[in-house]
Amino acid sequence: MTPISDDLLDQVRGWLRQARKIAVLSGAGISAESGVPTFRDAQTGLWASFRPEELATEEAFRANPTRVWDWYAERRERLRDVAPNVGHVALAEFQQRHPGRLTVITQNVDGLHQKAGSTGVLALHGNIYQDQWLDPCQLARRAHESCHVEQAEAGRPPSCAHCGNLLRPAVVWFGEMLPMAALRAAEHAATECEVMLVVGTSGQVYPAAGLAHEARQGGAKVVIVNPQATELDDVAHAVLVGSSCQLLPRLLDF
Ligand code: NAD
Repeated sequence: MTPISDDLLDQVRGWLRQARKIAVLSGAGISAESGVPTFRDAQTGLWASFRPEELATEEAFRANPTRVWDWYAERRERLRDVAPNVGHVALAEFQQRHPGRLTVITQNVDGLHQKAGSTGVLALHGNIYQDQWLDPCQLARRAHESCHVEQAEAGRPPSCAHCGNLLRPAVVWFGEMLPMAALRAAEHAATECEVMLVVGTSGQVYPAAGLAHEARQGGAKVVIVNPQATELDDVAHAVLVGSSCQLLPRLLDF
């Protein structure tokens, strides 16, 4: 890894100091130093023979609900005791010192930005701790009342005693639409910001990665923070090669 020159760091810090609006687009890498595996590293043990695309889709869930439910149950269990790291904390503390200036847009479903104290987090891919029904409620169609997630019958996955509907994790699977309100708010933050920090994402998953292009087209300086090359390096004005724990506290210490 080539060390980052002090000049480049000072230049980026200068952009951040001047910016009235900053957007951060984070991915799995920002949680790596908390011990959360990135998607591409996550296939260990029991799951080593499955690709994420074979588990994180509606088709996979319908084909084998128990297998997909169990995979998420294991991820939820592993996340329960995970703490945010100094990268998450640097963002949250910056928001507290400069209210309204920094928006966190994340592809992560782990809730660590929120645990660190960030507010207004735009979670583009949902939240692994929440559940939702797989299908529209059949009962609601017939009797104008609906089944409730909290009343689901225990199981792997839990189901509705009235209509047999299954619970699934409230995360966005491959091929699914992003939550519209969060996406619109993220697009707004991307187009109005003066600096976008793109932290810990490989930039391969759209529409999230498209936000970096939108920021650039809107006139923002785009800065990558990542120890590896990313698909978005060509969009950036500066590529800071390093980890988020090492760099975010240095960039946002004012
Ligand atoms: P990804 O796995 O494609 O890429 C991770 C990126 O993080 C890589 O570019 C890697 O070089 C970088 N990285 C690794 N360690 C880092 C560090 N210490 N500091 C900074 N960067 C580091 O993940 P992605 O781009 O987020 O996209 C894939 C999908 O994975 C997303 O849709 C996301 O929802 C999902 N996912 C989320 C979590 C989570 O919530 N923590 C975990 C796994 C996967």
